[in-house]
Amino acid sequence: MAKKKETFQRKQTPIRTTRSQRRTLIKKDGELPDGYKKGVVISSIGRVYLVGPTESDSDNEANIIECSPGGTIVTPHQDTTIIAVGDEVAYIESGSDGESDIPSGVIVKVYERKNSLSRRAAGKRPYEHVIASNADQLLITSSMITPDFNRRLIDRFLVAAEIGGIPAALCVNKCDLVDDDIFYEQFEVYDSLGIDVFFISAKENLNIETIQDYLEGKRTIFAGQSGVGKSTLLNRILGGEVQAVKEISERTGKGCHTTSYVKMFRMPGGTSIIDTPGIREFGLWGVEKSELALYFHEFDEYRLNCKYPSCSHIHEPGCLVQQAFVDGLIDEGRYESYIYLFESMED
Ligand code: GDP
Ligand code: ZN
Repeated sequence: MAKKKETFQRKQTPIRTTRSQRRTLIKKDGELPDGYKKGVVISSIGRVYLVGPTESDSDNEANIIECSPGGTIVTPHQDTTIIAVGDEVAYIESGSDGESDIPSGVIVKVYERKNSLSRRAAGKRPYEHVIASNADQLLITSSMITPDFNRRLIDRFLVAAEIGGIPAALCVNKCDLVDDDIFYEQFEVYDSLGIDVFFISAKENLNIETIQDYLEGKRTIFAGQSGVGKSTLLNRILGGEVQAVKEISERTGKGCHTTSYVKMFRMPGGTSIIDTPGIREFGLWGVEKSELALYFHEFDEYRLNCKYPSCSHIHEPGCLVQQAFVDGLIDEGRYESYIYLFESMED
């Protein structure tokens, strides 16, 4: 019985996705209706999108509009999520929906994305699922222990961030639980790759100001696996704001599980945070298996001189990357991540 149910769910997901995308006609060009306004998507719950003024607008706390996608949307993006949190959009107001006191509108255009954090959405025909777009940076949140630091997930996020064109940094939480240097040494490799690593304790309020400095004036995506303390950190940084956005999302969500949705929190001074659901693993989008090594920059000085141009750097003879690993010049955990990611990708 249980097996049957699993098969049923697997089949349903891609079909539903395709249908919901078909309800909207996508056009590359087109005239916008008179009286349209511009805004940024701050949350997406099913087919309900909250749109607010961009961070550069002075009154960005006011004027949140609950939007649905128009019958036709003008967008340069094809075969991808039509509307994602972070997207700049044009909408027309259509009054209030009567149920909530939030004004409603219809999204008629999605402007070109500057960048995006994307994953591969599974299905018969895989497509790009945009987790969030137009970000200045990605903060990959993890914890020292409980749950253990998940290097594969971190390295996967680093690759996805680079593919999407978003600079990334690491935040390692729960530092109050460890004091042995050995815990900290495992992050030295990231330092050598030029990736900032922040050691914090959200619970003990340790080093939170370094995170605040990093966030200042930027739009940052927070991503990581659940349990690492992302909510605790967000509460620390945002205070009451988290609750306020939660409430508005719950009102508009109409019973959806709002905790699993992407939400943008805005703070004074043009600082904003895009919170994403806890994720353990995800498929990479926008990279061929044979290109994966390009995103492991510690391979750069070796990979061009491998004996075979199509070297996977895993088993071929005459591979200088493998040699560098054997000689202790490439970090073991990172090399393992590479193999794991490589093997998880389709040919
Ligand atoms: P999320 O799933 O990433 O949002 O994680 P939560 O914020 O819900 O935290 C998960 C658990 O870790 C909770 O029991 C928190 O109290 C705990 N926690 C969060 N931050 C810290 C920290 O810095 N140190 C310790 N010791 N526990 C923490
Ligand atoms: Zn090689």
